[in-house]
Amino acid sequence: MCTETIVAIATPAGQGGVGIVRVSGSIVKQITKAILSFLPAPRSACYTSFLDSDGTSLDEGIALFFPAPHSFTGEDVLELQGHGGPVVMDLLLQRCVALGARIAQPGEFSERAFLNDKLDLVQAEAIADLIESGSEKAARSALRSLQGDFSKAVNKLLKDLIQLRSYVEAALDFPEEEIDFLAEDTLKNALCQLKQELKAIHRQAQQGSLLREGMHLVIAGRPNAGKSSVLNRLAGRDAAIVTPIPGTTRDVLREQIHIDGLPLHIVDTAGLRESNDPVEQEGIKRAWAEIAKADLLLLIIDQKRGFGEEDQRILDKLPGKLPVLKIYNKTDLCDSLQGEDEEGIYLSAKTGAGIELLIQALEKAVGYNASTEGLFTARRRHLQALEETAVAVARAEQQLSDYQAGELMAAELLTAQESLGKITGQYRSDDLLGEIFSSFCIGK
Ligand code: GDP
Repeated sequence: MCTETIVAIATPAGQGGVGIVRVSGSIVKQITKAILSFLPAPRSACYTSFLDSDGTSLDEGIALFFPAPHSFTGEDVLELQGHGGPVVMDLLLQRCVALGARIAQPGEFSERAFLNDKLDLVQAEAIADLIESGSEKAARSALRSLQGDFSKAVNKLLKDLIQLRSYVEAALDFPEEEIDFLAEDTLKNALCQLKQELKAIHRQAQQGSLLREGMHLVIAGRPNAGKSSVLNRLAGRDAAIVTPIPGTTRDVLREQIHIDGLPLHIVDTAGLRESNDPVEQEGIKRAWAEIAKADLLLLIIDQKRGFGEEDQRILDKLPGKLPVLKIYNKTDLCDSLQGEDEEGIYLSAKTGAGIELLIQALEKAVGYNASTEGLFTARRRHLQALEETAVAVARAEQQLSDYQAGELMAAELLTAQESLGKITGQYRSDDLLGEIFSSFCIGK
């Protein structure tokens, strides 16, 4: 149990109607009595003055006291809802520090909630995902993870794995029966079912991870081919959001849009040309670094002019493994919506004709299924753990089928169990916790 008391401003920086200071830890009761002059009834809103050390009022507002263990962190928690000005909030924060609290690290409230078994790791991560979600679909999925949908699926699988391992281990204790037992269909069937369950969760988690991570796209093409127009057309679709994401440098132009809830991180390569200007060279270097991380390149071609040498030159410069989607734009200037390139997509950014085909192609390229119901958010870390689990289960199956090696099979099942347990945090390292929670904001 953590004993240090932590404090943070839980609301965003800046001015707002209400600002919240949150305190958690073992001396919360003392701090509460000092600031309010009394301890409010548990979980009841109480309108009162927040007092300075000399008894004068720093602010007034609502105080909420959550005694352990019925609080977010599982510890005693005090929430002071004052007026949302940076100075007022800072005064309240400093008052708590003077009374013995220390300023919380990023994600420290959520980390304590995890350490005190109020949340598992998936749920703690879902809090960050919910706050950071960029589309309604992502927010709904994060909420589902927070409410435990993903954890339940993982725990069910974990239970099945443990049951199978115990069955194998128990049977190993009776060596005279071992051969028969290893030849039984029960074991094969159980392994087969495990594999199917794993596959189903992985499929769902992959969709959830796409909703969170999205797809990295690069748009390239000759000047005036219609790169900006295609981008605007994509962004201007119903429910699509355009957010200019400030780039690390002004030379890397990045945009983030959503289609059907899928975030698209788009890098515009307009600046990819030979240059002697050192600043521009640095920008170009960074643009190439972005391209190296891309999932797909959209090559915009002016259909009227057709695919030309310059387009080929762009393709020649790209990393070999980067998939390319050729977009023939300006079909409104041509007689037909179709063309000779069977793999190409023909559209008009001006009229919008054919844009649905592009959206479908983008979703197909990453395997995104917008109609999937009941999604939960997931992270790459979760996918990796599921993949490690699948590898261990496959090895367990091999030990059984090829070698009839019960003990080795049990060992592989244990490895599978440990990999799977990393998702919810049953098996964890301090490094992993540090990595996860340090990416949270302060106050979370
Ligand atoms: P970029 O330089 O590749 O970003 O190209 P822009 O998007 O700025 O477009 C260049 C010019 O082509 C502009 O005048 C656009 O209005 C025009 N344009 C773009 N897409 C279309 C299209 O589908 N049809 C027609 N007729 N004109 C287009």
